[in-house]
Formats: sequence, structure tokens, C-alpha cells
Amino acid sequence: MTFEELNLAPAILKAVLEQGYNNPTPIQAQAIPAVLQGQDLLAGAQTGTGKTAAFALPMLNRLLDSDPATSKFGNKGVRALILTPTRELAAQVEESVRAYAKYLDGINSTVVFGGVGMNPQIDRIKRGVDILVATPGRLLDLQQQGFLDLSTVQILVLDEADRMLDMGFIHDVKKVLALVPKNKQSLLFSATFSDEIRELANTLLKNPQSIQV
Ligand code: AMP
Repeated sequence: MTFEELNLAPAILKAVLEQGYNNPTPIQAQAIPAVLQGQDLLAGAQTGTGKTAAFALPMLNRLLDSDPATSKFGNKGVRALILTPTRELAAQVEESVRAYAKYLDGINSTVVFGGVGMNPQIDRIKRGVDILVATPGRLLDLQQQGFLDLSTVQILVLDEADRMLDMGFIHDVKKVLALVPKNKQSLLFSATFSDEIRELANTLLKNPQSIQV
């Protein structure tokens, strides 16, 4: 299978080919059509399988096909929210999203995580963000302090959900789930599946497509 066969928008395909990717990895070949169709996804995948592009490419395609959102503050609202367990992963995911969105005018992204000052993150959010990559704690801080409206989220990704729970973020994740609309597309990626992950998947996902690589 080739990337050309996946029906991604030309501007996304161009960015992918520029990355030097020749063929989709197995998780990309399975996840991209399902996510493009608007399905929820339960994906079992380790790091190194190409899971970031598996959610980021069809996510960008869906944003391209929908209108920008307006937050309750009057600025551009977050349409895609990606939660990751660590700041390193958050930064890495946002860098990939940025590369894949390189030729998409008007779709922008940023990353927020703890351990650094909040003010630059607040200033950036105020300028309007389509795609927000975040660790759960800082995301909630920003929301609770009144700088972030999560009611405009259309796509939610939980990346490395098992690590997120191992690190004790289950309560934070559940708080985030309560702040985003019920009617959204949700994608859950995890390397392992404990009872706790399955329970989380059951509460979050609607008729998900299951993929295991
Ligand atoms: P990930 O599993 O998302 O952390 O990706 C692992 C690495 O594989 C990253 O360096 C990606 O840039 C790279 N990668 C992702 N998809 C492909 C692909 N289809 N072909 C070649 N490399 C890829």
C-alpha cells in the first residue's frame, strides 16, 4: 500500500512524502481510513510503529474539512486535543504534527506541559490554537485558571494511555474527559491493555475500530 492510496489531502501527502516516508506502516494503513471516516479508534501499538502519524495525519485531514472553532473567549478554539504522559512525548508529538501540517494554511498547533512557566503558554493560547498537545496536569491548570476553553474540541487523542495511567494521571484524564464535548471523535493508543485501560476505553469510545499491531 502507498500513501497516495489513503485519500489524504494533497497538502498533507506532500508533507508526508517530504518526511521521506515511502509506505504507510501497518498501524497507519489501518488507522488512517477509519479516522478519516470519523470512527473512534482503539489502537494497540508500541512506540516506533508510526503511531504518531497514524493519528496525526487523518486528524489534520478532518480539521481541513471542518470550519475553525471560536472559543468562549472569542479567540480561535481548540479543535484537536492530544494528551500525552510526558513533556518529552508532548514536545515530540507537536513537532511531528507541525511537520505534517506544514502546507496547511491556517491550521496551527502548540504544546503545553508542566515544569516551565505558564505565561508563554497562556500568551500562545490567547492567540488561538487549532491543535493542542498537552500533559494532563498543566492542561487542567490552564483550564481551571480560566485561560482555556475545551468545549470546542472535536477530536481527542489519548497517546500512550497505559503510561498515562501508570504515572497516576487517571483522575486528571477523567477530569479532562468531563470538560470536552460528549459528541467528538476519540482515539486511544496504548501499548498494553489492563482492566483500567479497558474501562477507560469503554467510557470514552463509541463503536471503536480496534487495531492491534
Ligand atoms: P512513532 O511510532 O510515531 O514514534 O514513529 C517512529 C518513527 O518512525 C518516527 O521517527 C517517524 O518519523 C517514523 N515514521 C513514521 N511513519 C513512517 C513511515 N510510514 N515510513 C517511515 N518512517 C516512518
